[in-house]
Amino acid sequence: MSAVTPIAFVSQGDAASVAAWLQCLRAAMPEEEILAFGDLDETRRAQCRVAIVANPDPAQLKLLPQLQWVHSVWAGVERLVADLDQSGLQITRLVDPRLAATMAEAVLAWTLYLHRDMPYYARQQQARQWQPLDYVLPEQRRVGILGLGALGEAAAAALRQARFPVTGWSRSARSIPGMQTCSGMEGLAQMLAQTDILVCLLPLTTQTRGLLDAARLALLPPDAQLINFARGPIIDDAALHQALDAGQLRHAVLDVFATEPLPADAWPWSHPAVTVLPHCSAPTDSGTASSIVAANIRHYRKTGEILANVDLKRGY
Ligand code: NAP
Repeated sequence: MSAVTPIAFVSQGDAASVAAWLQCLRAAMPEEEILAFGDLDETRRAQCRVAIVANPDPAQLKLLPQLQWVHSVWAGVERLVADLDQSGLQITRLVDPRLAATMAEAVLAWTLYLHRDMPYYARQQQARQWQPLDYVLPEQRRVGILGLGALGEAAAAALRQARFPVTGWSRSARSIPGMQTCSGMEGLAQMLAQTDILVCLLPLTTQTRGLLDAARLALLPPDAQLINFARGPIIDDAALHQALDAGQLRHAVLDVFATEPLPADAWPWSHPAVTVLPHCSAPTDSGTASSIVAANIRHYRKTGEILANVDLKRGY
């Protein structure tokens, strides 16, 4: 049984978002004392072993001398991994079936957007043109998913349900009934050459940064399309711009960017072959996320075991 000490909520979010998170977290674990970092005096700070975080300022985490465990309410933790690399802290990221279902819905929606040529018909309407394209069956549209984790696997299931043939790429070899899987750089090259719609759901790590460079984008068949719902820097921005300008890639749906919000003068805003989304494909549900954090913290209080799921060496 782990001694009950206050839990810090550390976030760079605005006051309203901090208040909303505190309300959800306190409702999910009324037995805990959860305090915003700014409300902890020095004595309380010295007692905190657990911090729940949403984009925290790493300097604030350093002011919690007994801290052992950082539990994020977000799924993507590349900034935490970079900031806490040498800290010895244990890190848990959000793995939430609700988040996976939301992402799977987004992947299906935007795959259908590309599959049914909606960007093309939107341009036609603007030009008052009446020119239907040949219909393509979903069975003939090959979807490749980069990353077969909590989100990639759920997205793959939704796509298969909609009759798309799906291939997925992961770091370790995976076997998932009903779809092809591959790993390694050779597997990636083979998959790219047979992908009509590529969906990126990888974490941003030192291995995945810039993974989709000019050479790899060139492996995609002519007219391939791209959906990036993971992190902007996984795709080489200049190479993507070039591939779209050249018509080598037909369209890209981009939800994530190296700088967010996307600066007003950034090229994707006005590119005819790009759909810009404001990092909205799968927002955390604060209710289900709080329940998951609460269950993990109750487990820790009962057993002393920290259910860490981020490997700092692996980077995700
Ligand atoms: P996850 O469960 O950790 O899965 C990551 C997948 O990527 C795993 O299959 C992993 O392989 C694979 N992978 C990692 N590094 C690789 C590499 N170097 N080569 C090949 N495969 C590699 O992560 P998740 O929960 O699915 O989330 C994925 C990402 O989605 C998050 O990191 C976050 O950035 C992003 N995200 C975006 C939004 C949004 O709204 N746009 C919302 C939530 C999350 P193994 O299976 O072998 O481990």
